[in-house]
This record gives sequence, structure tokens and C-alpha cells, in this order.
Amino acid sequence: MEKYDYLIVGSGLFGATFAYKARQAGKRCLVIDRRPHLGGNVYSPTLNPSSPLQPPPEGEASNSLPTGERLRVGELASGMGRGGAAIHVHKYGAHIFHTSNKEVWDFVNSLVPFNRYTNSPIANYHGELYNLPFNMNTFNRLWGVKTPEEAKRKLEEQRAEAVAALAGREPANLEEQALTLVGKDVFEKLIKEYTEKQWGRKCTELPAFIIKRLPVRLTYDNNYFNDKYQGIPIGGYNKLIEGLLSPTAPLNPPRRGTLNSLPTGERLRVGELASGMGWGEAGCIETLCGIDVPLSSNNKVKNVGKRLRETANCANYDLLKENAKQMRKEPTEAEAAFWELVSGNGLDVKFRRQHIIGDYIVDFVCLEKNLVVEIDGGYHDDEQQQIDDNLRSKELKDYGFTILRLQNEEVIAAPQEVIRKVRLALWLAEKAPLREGFGEACHKLVYTGPLDEYFGYSLGKLDWRTVTFKTRVENIPNFQGNAVVNYTSHDVPYTRVIEHKHFEMFGQEVYDCPFTVISEEYSTEYREGMEPYYPVNDERNNALAAQYKELAHQEGVMFPEEASPRPSPEGRELKASPTGGGMEGASSPSGGGMEGASGEGRGGAVIFGGRLAQYKYYDMAPIIEQALSLF
Ligand SMILES: Cc1cc2nc3c(=O)[nH]c(=O)nc-3n(C[C@H](O)[C@H](O)[C@H](O)COP(=O)(O)OP(=O)(O)OC[C@H]3O[C@@H](n4cnc5c(N)ncnc54)[C@H](O)[C@@H]3O)c2cc1C
Repeated sequence: MEKYDYLIVGSGLFGATFAYKARQAGKRCLVIDRRPHLGGNVYSPTLNPSSPLQPPPEGEASNSLPTGERLRVGELASGMGRGGAAIHVHKYGAHIFHTSNKEVWDFVNSLVPFNRYTNSPIANYHGELYNLPFNMNTFNRLWGVKTPEEAKRKLEEQRAEAVAALAGREPANLEEQALTLVGKDVFEKLIKEYTEKQWGRKCTELPAFIIKRLPVRLTYDNNYFNDKYQGIPIGGYNKLIEGLLSPTAPLNPPRRGTLNSLPTGERLRVGELASGMGWGEAGCIETLCGIDVPLSSNNKVKNVGKRLRETANCANYDLLKENAKQMRKEPTEAEAAFWELVSGNGLDVKFRRQHIIGDYIVDFVCLEKNLVVEIDGGYHDDEQQQIDDNLRSKELKDYGFTILRLQNEEVIAAPQEVIRKVRLALWLAEKAPLREGFGEACHKLVYTGPLDEYFGYSLGKLDWRTVTFKTRVENIPNFQGNAVVNYTSHDVPYTRVIEHKHFEMFGQEVYDCPFTVISEEYSTEYREGMEPYYPVNDERNNALAAQYKELAHQEGVMFPEEASPRPSPEGRELKASPTGGGMEGASSPSGGGMEGASGEGRGGAVIFGGRLAQYKYYDMAPIIEQALSLF
């Protein structure tokens, strides 16, 4: 039976880099993501300054952009057009690429050139502005000192006060720790309240280990990073993701003399796959966004498709039935178009409209294959709506359904693409849950989703910290004169304000663009359905993560971070890669890497990569380095 070489769950930098290298090695990859776009956290939709601001279409709610401009969530490079520069909005938080690794820097620059952006944040404390990181500019503003010697004396004086107050004992909390490192003035104006906003707790209640070092610079250097290289991709991060995942992106010559068999960028046709037609020999990348496939068989109802109505909640059934009937009578334009599309296109499966599952009425369902299709309007970009959608998807997955989310616009404008997605989703839904069924779809699974989710949270849930964003358009060319401004006092509820244009526009370019987009960042307690951003690496969570990793090892899963050799399920030794970050087994004839795994079935055929599956914060460059090290 034909299948992909790699099914890659997650299209962030780990998944995308892995896919790029695998394609280069002549492998056939399917990259799926449950978000409606590719790129994971670096996804940056475009606002084009030459487009006048448009109110949202009638009948659709606007999201949190008060001036009426909605950020459309589309696949790669959405919103470009009409020429001119554009503002790329870092939807999942400001991302600044920095590394001292030349191989990684050259690799990303071979896909898209990077600009000269240098991160130099400003801190705002009750209206007083300070340069970060702590350097001579900061100390001059704080104390009026002009020379490094004067600054050093002042710092030492304040550190000594803090050490004396401890009377010989170790710092017991973050506050005491920070005071011994930088003294009272820096701590109180630039660290204390900012940290309390970040963690939602007082510094005296936070453990000392959170702050190990607080580097100070006795030079007038505002460059936040010490790395050799830094910048932002010219044209935005979507260009980088396009370079990694586009089937037409040129490939560098393969390293081990393997076949680069996709010179024309031929795209694999999913219809061919689904109907069992030929694959060809080419390395290729197929992508599918908006798809959420159950991972583990920890479901409420198994084989629900065969039992039809049993998923409806009896208590509310009559009310839901009445609503569903009404909704069938008044479909949206996109729902009507989809219904027509799936009714007469030779899919060989039957869809139902407005079907009741649990307490939900889903837009469309194919019960035979356990596939739900939801058609989303623009209001699904809204942050709260996304949380609700995630919770809904989670419940549907518990019933055993795979969910495919399509956008209104694509259903109307790109029917062929929609049919491709539906075919592929039907094919994948049959393989669910993936932890057990991936062997039917691919030789190897590359998983970049949350560690605990893969195992159905069987040992308990890992904690995360998250950030919420309020993004708006301001009709002025320059809002704060800098990309990043930290608000270090309690009276301002957000931690930072990001002005996105400053990542890519410099000098006069800032004023050539008459408006600007800003995001306020709020550090937020994680709730189910939210984006998991930062792992909480405390004792409980680290121990739980270690237990999950052990479970993973028992299933033959490989982690790129593991430098120590671990026998593969076939008893073959996996060697640490020369970069120390990955593993290599016996190399394949095609040079595809990771060939120590069996290639068939489950044993050794799963790789966990990326920040979520490793439950560890990584910057972008180390994530790319890890993926590269596997080839
Ligand atoms: C707020 C914030 C700011 C950051 N700023 C910087 C910075 O300035 N510089 C820097 O170097 N790094 C920064 N980082 C780190 C950077 O985001 C990560 O290194 C990088 O995104 C990791 O890539 P990834 O592929 O591991 O994960 P992600 O980018 O998160 O990609 C994982 C993808 O997998 C998908 N997925 C998960 N589970 C499933 C599933 N079951 N089915 C389908 N799809 C699934 C997700 O939807 C997601 O798209 C920042 C991180 C955060 C949170």
C-alpha cells in the first residue's frame, strides 16, 4: 500500500525544516497543522499599507482591531498585493531571529534574505524611559553616571547592601536573588513589577532559580542579543515558511548525492493518492491546514460513525434538532457552496448537514469516515472564538472525529483546493487515532504537538503560561518609535507593546506607510483551549514531563535533544550527531536520515521534535538546528 515517508504533525519551524530536508532527500512528506495556516508561531499575516482600511463584511463581527481592519487568517503570504511594502503582524508574539550558528544563519538566508534589524528594547517605568539590556545608557539615566567605573561602583554598592541584608543566608526568593545581582534601583524600576505581571505572582513568592543571571553591560550598547547574527526575514516570516514548505521552492543540491527529483516543483495530487494511483519517485511536500486528527484512542465513543445518533446529548436533543433544522433551511453562502461541492464530485462518501454531536451542531459530517467539516467566517480569527473552537474540536476528537476547518472565502473562491483538502482529510480520518494508526499513512511520524496530548493526558496535564494579544491599527505612521517597549510598572496592565512595522521598516520607510499596527501583550494564566506558549518548568511539571518522555521511549520515540545513544527497537545503536543535537542510525541509500528506525509499523518510527513535544522553551535557531541535525 502506498503511503507517505513522513507524516509531519505541526508546520512550525521544526516540522517545516524537517520536511524541507526530507524532501531534499527524495522523501514524500505530508505536513498537517490544526491552525488554519502554516508556520506555527512565526506565522505573520500581512497588512498592506496601500490598501485602505476596510470595515469587516456585513454580518461578520470584527476582531480586536478597533479601527475596523480585520487580520485575515489565510495560508502563507495572505494579504499581499497592490505592491508596496507591507506590515507583517507577528500574530503569536514578536519573533526576532538570532544565532551565532553560521550553518543555521546561512541555511535560513538561503531561503530568504534577512534584514539588519537589531533588537534594542525600551523600558517605560511610569513614563521614564530606559534602554535595555542594562547598559551604560540605562545607568546614565538611572544615576547620571557617565563612565563604566562610576556605574560599576554604584552597582557594587547596591549589591553589597542586598548581600548584607541576607546576613549570610542564601536568597530565598526571586526578589532577594535579583537584589544581590543588580541592586535596588535596577530591580525596583526595571524588574520587580514587570516580573510580577509576567508570572501573576509577587517576586517574594517566586523561586530564586528563575533568575540565575542578570547580565549588565558596562558599554553603551543597546543590542539586546550577544549573538553574531540577527534579523528578520525580508518580506516577513511567511517567506521563510514558504521557502521551507512550498512545493516549488528550489532545493539546494542534496548533501549525500541523493536524488533531487522535484525540479519542477510538481505537487503530489491527493486524488491520486486517495484512489491508489501512482506516487512517482519524487521527493515532495503536501500540506494540509485546519486539520485536527485524534491522536490517542482515549475517546468517549469508539467507532462512533457506525452508531450514528449516539453522540447527541439526549437532554438537549429536541432543542438542538429544531435549531439544526432551521440552520439547514438558512445556510450561509459558503455552506451552500460546500454542500453543492460535496454532493456531486465523486467523493463516494455521504455528508450530512447541521448534524448534532454532543451539545454541538457541526456544519458537515461524514459519519462513515468520522470526519467533521466546519466552515468558518472571519469572526473565528477572534482570540476568544479560537479558544471556543479549540474546546469544541477537543470534544469532537474525544468522540473519535477528525475535524477539518475551512474558511468561507476558500470554499467560494477555490473549490478545487477544497476538494483536495476534503479528500486528504477523509483519507487521514481513516487512520485515526494517529498514535495507533499512523503506520497506515506513513513510514514515520514526526510529531511536534504537546507531549501530554500525544498520550491522551494519561498521566495528567502539563502546565503552560500563555500570552494574549490586543492588536489594533493606529492611523499614524509612527506610534512608539521602536519595535518593542516594555512596561515595567503595575499601573499598565500589559507587559509590552509591539509596533510591528519597526521590524522591517527603517528611516523614511516608516513614514511612507501612513498607518501602523500595534499589539499589547498580556501575560495570562493558561486555560484549556488557549495557545500553550511557555512551559512551566517547575518541579511538578519537569517530573511529569520526564514520565511522559519515558512513556515515549517505551514506544520507541526518538527525541532530537538526546545526545546519548539509545538502542533502537531493532537493537541498533543510534549515534549522537556531530552537532550533539540529534541522532543518526544506519544511513539510508537515499540519505534521508533517521534510518535507524524500522521504516514500517510503529517501532522506532516516531520522532518528537519542537518546543511542544519536548516541553521545553527553545528559540527559533536551536529548533532549526535540531531539525537539520537529523539529516
Ligand atoms: C511569545 C513567544 C515569543 C517568541 N519570540 C521568539 C524570538 O523573539 N526569537 C526566537 O528565536 N524565538 C522566539 N520564540 C520561540 C519560537 O516561537 C519557537 O522556537 C518556535 O516557534 C518553535 O517551533 P516549533 O515548530 O517547535 O513550534 P510551533 O511554532 O509552535 O509549531 C507547532 C505547530 O504544531 C501544530 N500542532 C500542535 N499539535 C498539533 C496536532 N495535534 N495536530 C496538528 N497540528 C498540531 C501547532 O498548531 C503549531 O502550528 C518565541 C516563542 C513565544 C511563545
